[in-house]
Amino acid sequence: MEAITYYSTNLKAPSVSFRDALLKGQAPDKGLYMPSRIPALTDGELKAFASMTYPEIAYSVLSAFLKEEVPAHSLRTLVEDAYDYPVPLEHVLDRKYVMRLDQGPTASFKDFAARMMGRLMNYFLEQEERELFILTATSGDTGSAIANAFYGLDNIRVLILFPETEVTSRQRKQMTTLGKNVDVVAIDGKFDDCQAMVKRAFADPELEHLNLSSANSINIGRLLPQAVYYFYAWSQLRKEADEQATFVVPSGNFGDMMGGMIAWRMGLPVHNMVIAVNENDEFPAFLQTGAYEKIEPSRNCLSSAMNVGHPSNLARLVALYGGMMDETGHIHKAADMEAMRRDLRSFSVTDDRTKATIAEAWKTHKLLLEPHGAVGWAGLTDTLNACGDHADHLYVVLETAHPAKFPEQIREILGFDPALPPSLKGLEEQKENYSLMEHKYGDFRDYLLKTS
Ligand SMILES: *Cc1c(COP(=O)(O)O)cnc(C)c1O
Repeated sequence: MEAITYYSTNLKAPSVSFRDALLKGQAPDKGLYMPSRIPALTDGELKAFASMTYPEIAYSVLSAFLKEEVPAHSLRTLVEDAYDYPVPLEHVLDRKYVMRLDQGPTASFKDFAARMMGRLMNYFLEQEERELFILTATSGDTGSAIANAFYGLDNIRVLILFPETEVTSRQRKQMTTLGKNVDVVAIDGKFDDCQAMVKRAFADPELEHLNLSSANSINIGRLLPQAVYYFYAWSQLRKEADEQATFVVPSGNFGDMMGGMIAWRMGLPVHNMVIAVNENDEFPAFLQTGAYEKIEPSRNCLSSAMNVGHPSNLARLVALYGGMMDETGHIHKAADMEAMRRDLRSFSVTDDRTKATIAEAWKTHKLLLEPHGAVGWAGLTDTLNACGDHADHLYVVLETAHPAKFPEQIREILGFDPALPPSLKGLEEQKENYSLMEHKYGDFRDYLLKTS
């Protein structure tokens, strides 16, 4: 079979290898890279997953895409290194489960993608004896996920800028207690100042030799690893080898749900994908009407990581259904909306319902949810109301962050503090290391040149 290449959803840039798509991030025509074909797993392979560990399943799923470019033994080492934490599947009632994707080093599902992307980048750079310098501005969560994902990788240096007074001390400690190849600078300014300095550095010809790169969230290297946990959940919970599951995914930029769509196209038996969103309801409206209108500016909701008025991965979903959407959200070719409506359901959940769901899930099922997972659980309720509640059908709701990341909300709604997961424990005692800088671009550039 022909090798898989990666085309741009804007269709104006040449197709590239996985390596090139990974190291570039975004295609030069501002489109997103998508695989030219999606490899199918055999029934035998799917069946075998039932007795396999998470890293073993990750190896099988990823090697279907990468076997031409990454040798088997290297890929095995990378997945074993990336996925060294548990993936709990919590039974709630009937055959309804919550998959907790919150046991990684920064306690959100983004660890699954970021850790694999970092390791794949490092692998290719090692082959070429090249180094990459990742520069990121953060207002809190992105920085810690990137810092942790790239921590200890030999061919990648990381520098994170954060606004000194705008991150919580827990967020700061998740970045500043690492050391090694992770360098952290506090800027006497706002997040926008940090962002502006990083952007200027990327465009600065005097820094070109530093090989600066961003760990962009639309990178294909983040998308493919997000197919894996759908296979894992299904293989652990299914009764029959062809049993179909319904997945409910709390969504913002649609990277998570696109992982599920890729898994489905690879042969995972899926009944429906349910896309649960907060009050940013551009997608359920689009699914219903076929007309797309992004929400600008996006609405501020409790599930803050899902405050997205124009999902960056939507162009990939449209492409999967035969359409073409550019990076601004303009549709050049309509997708097969009828097929999309058959496969997908989408519900918008208000903040009031999100809070009520956190209270209700705890009271009724002793199910502890944070705001993102609560949007997912409410989306399951909507699905059952719309399509009927089948006690023998397998439903899996994805919980995307650990409740301990939202102590104020949980305390307000449930009256107690959620226990910290192991990854967030002991931060208090660890030594911090970071520099302080005024928000002067010249100083920042000197720092970059001096320390590299
Ligand atoms: C990023 C994030 C989401 C949204 O995921 P997308 O891939 O952007 O749809 C949901 N929950 C949490 C906790 C997140 O960090």
